[in-house]
Amino acid sequence: MQLHIKDTFNKELPSDSNTENSRRQVTEATHSYVSPRIPSQPKLIHASKEMANAIGLDEAAIKSKDFLDVFSGLKIYPKTKPYAMAYAGHQFGNWAGQLGDGRAINLFEVEGNSKRWAIQLKGSGETPYSRQGDGLAVLRSSIREYLCSEAMHHLGVPTTRALSLMLSGDDVLRDMLYNGNADYEKGAVVARVAPTFIRFGNFELFAARNDIKNLKKLTDYTLKYFYPELGKPSKETYIKFFEAVTQRTLDMIIHWQRVGFVHGVMNTDNMSILGLTIDYGPYGWLEDFDFGWTPNTTDKQNKRYRFGNQPNIGLWNLLQLANALYPLIEEAEPIEAILNQYQVDFEKQSLQMMRSKLGLQVELEEDAKLLANFEDCMLLSETDMTIVFRLLANYKKGYPENGIEIIENAFYKSEELNQDKLMQWKVWFKAYDQRLHKETITDSERQKNMNAVNPKYVLRNYMAQLAIDKADEGDYGLVDELFQVLKKPYDEQPEYEKWFAKRPEWARHKVGCSMLSCSS
Ligand code: AMP
Ligand code: MG
Repeated sequence: MQLHIKDTFNKELPSDSNTENSRRQVTEATHSYVSPRIPSQPKLIHASKEMANAIGLDEAAIKSKDFLDVFSGLKIYPKTKPYAMAYAGHQFGNWAGQLGDGRAINLFEVEGNSKRWAIQLKGSGETPYSRQGDGLAVLRSSIREYLCSEAMHHLGVPTTRALSLMLSGDDVLRDMLYNGNADYEKGAVVARVAPTFIRFGNFELFAARNDIKNLKKLTDYTLKYFYPELGKPSKETYIKFFEAVTQRTLDMIIHWQRVGFVHGVMNTDNMSILGLTIDYGPYGWLEDFDFGWTPNTTDKQNKRYRFGNQPNIGLWNLLQLANALYPLIEEAEPIEAILNQYQVDFEKQSLQMMRSKLGLQVELEEDAKLLANFEDCMLLSETDMTIVFRLLANYKKGYPENGIEIIENAFYKSEELNQDKLMQWKVWFKAYDQRLHKETITDSERQKNMNAVNPKYVLRNYMAQLAIDKADEGDYGLVDELFQVLKKPYDEQPEYEKWFAKRPEWARHKVGCSMLSCSS
């Protein structure tokens, strides 16, 4: 297996002088060298051919012993030096101090098709940043990360990617619900990929320690490799950098709202400096449309990271990044202006995104009300978000009386729709119909446009759980099936119609389907 290694992060930035793998505070360094744990019996479960191709590997390479060895952590690729990154963060709104890659180890950066990718193993053992954790990951959470990151990519949502999913052959002890019932589960390792894994928290670490020298080094490195279009380092460039990160973060969150994705743990250590969705933990997909929903049981009390709050949290996290970059900018005004603009842009882009979901091309003042009324209707009775938008694309102009029938299959409890509620829907369909008459496109053009932004297939929590249950028995067929379906989430794919379905009742309160914790 031949890779075109192009390491820069560990070559150009300061490393921890201590090379012992002991848990500690690490200062004046962006990373610590550490070797992945040797898995006792690695086994490849699945690999993304597309991602492999992107780093210059063909199908034969995926099947090679080298691939298994390197991406399970068994062997270190020649002339590379794996490392864990140092970062800090705000967790659930509170400053948490040093965190770092506690269970991720960067292998190397590699060039493929003139793009550079960093590859890291998640779940391959302790690092200096492991704190009280074991550095390992279980099969269930690894399947969730593997499937979801590739699915998000195909949905057009900025995200880190996944290259491979492997069993380590080792058992891992986990108390899945934090209720004192710890049990052994199968250990796994995901090789994940991104241009860089630098997070807001990497900047926060140096800023909190008033280590401005290294804050600048890290920022200049980030500019050089990931924002070269902004120009040479200077105050103005740092301001532009913050602005660009703000725009990318907003763009990512608007995509989340569009597809009904709830990240679940939007701590600042889980915010990519490239605006990529990162760290797939207790994430979930909206089934019935609900602004207040969070999949993360650890956040059940405050619901800080609920669906409807993601845009606000994005802004809050950006404020933390702004504080971290402040020593390089030393001017509050431009930062405030950028943060204010986030709110303005959010309103604008969110409206535009919702227009597209309803198939509206012309921009009219009145649309905000139509969209708000549609959300109100969805809240009348449990309405499946993915299904309702997909079915709405079948609507035929001029027949508002058929509206409810067209979307009927999206309701979880249609018996709840009493006369009043049905009337509200009818009124909405009349307004929608009138609005559609102000468009110039045909029904079928509108349908095509809507189906390009409203996915038919998303990784519903119960789907991932079914794949996990099978995989626990050693059957990876469903992992592959879901991987294949989710490659073309906007296509009809009639052969996979069974996955275009509401969450089954058995999954409503099942662990892993409606409830997930950070324990993974
Ligand atoms: P997360 O909430 O998964 O983003 O993780 C927050 C912090 O905890 C990061 O520093 C992780 O590296 C660390 N962490 C999470 N799980 C483990 C684990 N099993 N072992 C060591 N560190 C962990
Ligand atoms: Mg994390």
